[in-house]
Amino acid sequence: MKINFIDLQAQYKEYKKEIDSEVLEVMSLAQFIGGEKLNLFEKNLAAYTGSKHAIGCSSGTDALLLSLMALDISAGDEVITSPFTFISTAEVIALLGAKPVFVDIDEESYNIDPSKIEDAITERTKAIMPVSLYGQCADMEAINDIAKKHNLSVIEDACQSFGATYNNKKSCNLSTIGCTSFFPSKPLGAYGDGGAIFTNDDALAEKMRMLLNHGQNERYKHKYIGINGRLDAIQAAVLNVKLKHFDKEVRLRDEIGSRYSDLLEDSDVITPKIAPNATSVYAQYSIRVKDREAMIEKLNKKEIPTAVHYPVPLHMQEAFKYLDYKEGDFPISELVSKQIMSLPMSAYLSEAEQDFVVQAIKG
Ligand SMILES: *Cc1c(COP(=O)(O)O)cnc(C)c1O
Repeated sequence: MKINFIDLQAQYKEYKKEIDSEVLEVMSLAQFIGGEKLNLFEKNLAAYTGSKHAIGCSSGTDALLLSLMALDISAGDEVITSPFTFISTAEVIALLGAKPVFVDIDEESYNIDPSKIEDAITERTKAIMPVSLYGQCADMEAINDIAKKHNLSVIEDACQSFGATYNNKKSCNLSTIGCTSFFPSKPLGAYGDGGAIFTNDDALAEKMRMLLNHGQNERYKHKYIGINGRLDAIQAAVLNVKLKHFDKEVRLRDEIGSRYSDLLEDSDVITPKIAPNATSVYAQYSIRVKDREAMIEKLNKKEIPTAVHYPVPLHMQEAFKYLDYKEGDFPISELVSKQIMSLPMSAYLSEAEQDFVVQAIKG
């Protein structure tokens, strides 16, 4: 049996007619940047999350960067975030000359531990950037309470959690700003790079729209130093089709994720723990095993693809050496990064494929 880590071809087959016709329509309209496909997609995104504003942009990384730029985060400022995430989260903080301040994660959710945030706040702290990892939201209520007390902004890195819910509200619409990614392998994936920014604040929305278009408020009038961070029309057209079917896919992902957990219950791997007030979109289905190398090799022998998200926490990365963190500073992130591994996961993983993976793990 040949199993894909994420089956994007099966998904394309499912929506081929609609996607092909939408993409070809963009070609014949010859409106490649902005235009009606993008406007419609942004309207649909806002409706989906319940956010007042949804703004398409060039990637999840740029969404995070634009949100920090809109909040005027710059040299000397500190932003609190998790060391157990993809590099983008802390990279954009550092790019603006601000300092990423790491706070360790919770051992069950793998998201930032709110009980450890207040100790990291200084007079330079401007924002908290929690990551909703593997498809499950960080504990946003606790984080928002801390932020309110200290007058900080909260930016949800929702690059893996678009479609997830927290207290019955959608991820991306849980804080000052929410940022997501449409990288092809994310739960809602484009056919190239893409992302979106969400907010209920009119002034921030207006500023981010300018920032992603070179700080332009009128043609060739530049109010801010911005970037080229636009989402193109072909991606918006593809995403519009996929968003239409997204609720069904989220349901399938939830069923497949829960089924993995049920089937693995009597094994010695640690399965994901989803909080009772949350639903996960299982951007990754990640388990913890004592001997990861042996497990990967065992699955490899059966041609089962796996991945490790992420093998090195950010405070141990060479790029962040200048921050002077050391091994042992974030013990839970370090432990989890040694044990975690992701299994094949997508809305199109069949029960037979899943049984094959589970048997290989147990065998
Ligand atoms: C994918 C991802 C990003 C970056 O998104 P891109 O669209 O690839 O730029 C940022 N943060 C997290 C947690 C991600 O998973």
